[in-house]
Amino acid sequence: MSVGGATRVAAVIGDPVAHSLSPAIHNAAFAATGFDGVFVALPVRPRDLGAAVAGARALDLLGLSVTMPHKATVVPYLDDVGHDAAALGAVNCIVREGDGLLGANTDGPGFVDALTAASVDLVGTRVLVLGAGGAARAVIGALVGAGVAEVGVVNRSRERAEAALLLGGRAVRVADAADAPDYDLVVNATSVGMGAAPEAAVLPLDPSLLREGHVVVDLVYEPVETGLLAAARASGARTVDGVGMLVHQAARAFTLWTGLDAPVEDMGRAAREVLARKT
Ligand code: NAP
Repeated sequence: MSVGGATRVAAVIGDPVAHSLSPAIHNAAFAATGFDGVFVALPVRPRDLGAAVAGARALDLLGLSVTMPHKATVVPYLDDVGHDAAALGAVNCIVREGDGLLGANTDGPGFVDALTAASVDLVGTRVLVLGAGGAARAVIGALVGAGVAEVGVVNRSRERAEAALLLGGRAVRVADAADAPDYDLVVNATSVGMGAAPEAAVLPLDPSLLREGHVVVDLVYEPVETGLLAAARASGARTVDGVGMLVHQAARAFTLWTGLDAPVEDMGRAAREVLARKT
C-alpha cells in the first residue's frame, strides 16, 4: 500500500476500537482492487461523537464504519438514514451522498450474503434466533426480507424478545429454546461464547437440542470455532461461522463507498489471518 496525495481515507469509529478487524479487512480490499484508499481505526469517546462526524465531513473522508457504543447515538448527526438503519435505529456505516452523510446498516444484508455464499437457502425455512440485541435485530429483519417462513426469537430478557417482534410482523414470534429441534436453522446472535475457548462449554443453547439437518450459525467470530459450532458439528449439523457475516457486511460498506465490487475472498482471508494470529 502506498499512500499519496490523492489517497482517500476511511475509518471505523468506536470506543474502544483498537481490537477492530475492519482496518485489516478494508485495507485488503483496497489492495486487491487497486483503489487508492487507506483505512484506520479512530477511537471516539461518546462526548466527541458530534465533533468526529463534523470532522469526517470537513476532511471529506471516503466513509466511516461505526461500532459500539455509537451505532444508535450517531443518527442525529447524519443528514439521512437508509431504510434498514431507520428500522433498526442503528447505523454501522456512513456514506457520502452528495454534500450529505447517509447512515446505513449493512449487518442484515451481510448476514444473508454470508448464508448465500455458504449455499444456505433461506426461502421457506423456520429459523430460531437466540438473542434480541443489536445483531439479532438486524438478522431478524433480514431473514424476513429473505423470505423465511418463520423466525422464533429466544432471549434471556423476554421484553427485549417481544420488542424484536416489531421488526418482522406476523412471521416473527417469541419462541422457546426447547423447540429448537423443530427449526431448520439456529442462529446464535447473543454474545455467549465470545472470548471463550471452544472447550469451555459456554453455550447459548443446550447442545442436546441440536441435530443432523440443522444449519447452525454463530455470529460470534472470536473465537472463530465456538463451543456452539463444535457441539453442532458433533451433532451432525452444518455450521456457518461468524466471519462470513463480518466480511460480507464490510463488503457491502466497501461497495457503498467506492462503487466497486468487493473482493470478498481477499477480505475474508485478511480477517481469518488476523483472527488466527490472536489464538
Ligand atoms: P448486544 O446488543 O449487547 O446483545 C447481546 C445479546 O446477548 C442480548 O440478546 C443479550 O440478552 C444476550 N446475552 C448476553 N449475555 C448473555 C448471557 N449470559 N446469557 C444469555 N443471553 C445473553 O450485542 P450485539 O451487538 O447484538 O452482539 C451480539 C454478538 O454478535 C456479539 O458477540 C458480537 O460480537 C456478535 N456480532 C457479530 C457480527 C458479525 O458480523 N459476525 C455482527 C454484529 C455482532 P439480554 O437482552 O437478555 O441482555
